[in-house]
Amino acid sequence: MPVYAFRCDACEYEFDRILPLSRYEDPQTCPECGEGPAARRFTPPNFILKGDGWDGKNHTISREMAKKNERLDARQKSQPTPGMRLAPNVDGQRVDSWSDAAKLAKDKGKDTTAYEHRAAQEKKP
Ligand SMILES: [Zn+2]
Repeated sequence: MPVYAFRCDACEYEFDRILPLSRYEDPQTCPECGEGPAARRFTPPNFILKGDGWDGKNHTISREMAKKNERLDARQKSQPTPGMRLAPNVDGQRVDSWSDAAKLAKDKGKDTTAYEHRAAQEKKP
């Protein structure tokens, strides 16, 4: 589960809390003063953290995540999967399959020809 960072409105105490994605917007009680609400400091937990106020642990984690992302990028560049070079998407919005993309494109009032062409290829064994 992701770790979310909070800061108490009352005493400015900062703390991390592991929460399920579905509960990250729940108000948190401050462990220091018992008051709250403690506001979440950043929305997505898994991006490169910038700025002051992060302790060494967070810097290490963000560095490791950046390194891991670099490795994943390198791997994807060096090993393109045949026939799957382009992930199904409509205007950059990712979907599970090209048939879903065709449906989404239709919903958006777009020309679905190219999407349906890919969807047809997708269904071949
Ligand atoms: Zn507090």
